[in-house]
Amino acid sequence: MSPNSARIHPAKLVRGLADVVEKMGVRLCEDTTVSEISPRPARTDRGNVTATYILRATEGFTANLKGLHREWLPMNSSMIVTEPLGDEVWAEIGWSDCDTVGDSAHAYVYSQRTADNRIALGGRGIPYLFGSRTDVGGTTQPETVRALTRMLRRMFPAARNARIEHAWAGVLGVPRNWKASVGLDQQTGVGWAGGYVGTGVTATNLAARTLRDLILDPQSELTTLPWVNRRVRQWDKEPLRWIAVSSLYKAYNLADRAENAGRKTTSPIAKMAGIITGRT
Ligand SMILES: Cc1cc2nc3c(=O)[nH]c(=O)nc-3n(C[C@H](O)[C@H](O)[C@H](O)COP(=O)(O)OP(=O)(O)OC[C@H]3O[C@@H](n4cnc5c(N)ncnc54)[C@H](O)[C@@H]3O)c2cc1C
Repeated sequence: MSPNSARIHPAKLVRGLADVVEKMGVRLCEDTTVSEISPRPARTDRGNVTATYILRATEGFTANLKGLHREWLPMNSSMIVTEPLGDEVWAEIGWSDCDTVGDSAHAYVYSQRTADNRIALGGRGIPYLFGSRTDVGGTTQPETVRALTRMLRRMFPAARNARIEHAWAGVLGVPRNWKASVGLDQQTGVGWAGGYVGTGVTATNLAARTLRDLILDPQSELTTLPWVNRRVRQWDKEPLRWIAVSSLYKAYNLADRAENAGRKTTSPIAKMAGIITGRT
């Protein structure tokens, strides 16, 4: 059990943030795709934008921007959610509060009891699409839905008959060293934040405050944190990139199988895969 964990509804968080900044006078331009930050101007499908500072926060979609194809690798994460479950199912599981649940596997899964009494459970599925392509419209491969459903039933046998009502997928940004960073190039005025590898909900808050300070208060404590202006080497060219990520997850699955079968220490396969792919 960890006390440092909470569940949120991400769509409500996004809408709430949008409301707050709009009330502060910020103009949001939705449905506008940036194709290149040159750095001045930023080119979009609705015209060019010139500004003293341009902050890039495109996370797993960064690979679509001109010149940044190998910066952060887009990694898919998928989720399923059950129908609302009855009290007897929750009682059998022993899940009465809003605790979030995860396993310690290398190819880990994470889950929460939602406000409307469903289990939402997520994991990697097919983690990477050749050529740093991103999923279209959040579609989830049927094989991924089947794998997550198997996992759900294994973790929560009491929910074995629960209908899976929705599945969706999103994209995470993964730097070559698997570590997030935030920075600002004072010469060009271009800043960036991201590479959270799937744990950005709270890190984005710190990153945004740090970007603010890099522009308005460069001597602040936040601007001295180790992740500030951390430069990371690019991902390898294809097919090496695909081979690296696919092998990593194959190795993780093998290691998980060995550890599930009773191995007491971390499998050397997982350790080796982490070293080769730069994860550890
Ligand atoms: C299924 C799933 C489960 C997750 N679970 C967790 C979790 O339990 N805990 C956790 O901490 N994190 C989790 N994450 C990760 C978390 O969602 C991200 O780390 C976080 O959203 C990163 O925030 P961000 O604002 O940097 O990027 P994003 O939320 O990815 O936002 C990027 C924004 O940039 C916009 N954009 C992209 N490209 C362009 C472009 N070319 N032009 C204009 N706009 C563009 C996108 O439309 C989007 O609005 C999960 C992610 C997924 C997909």
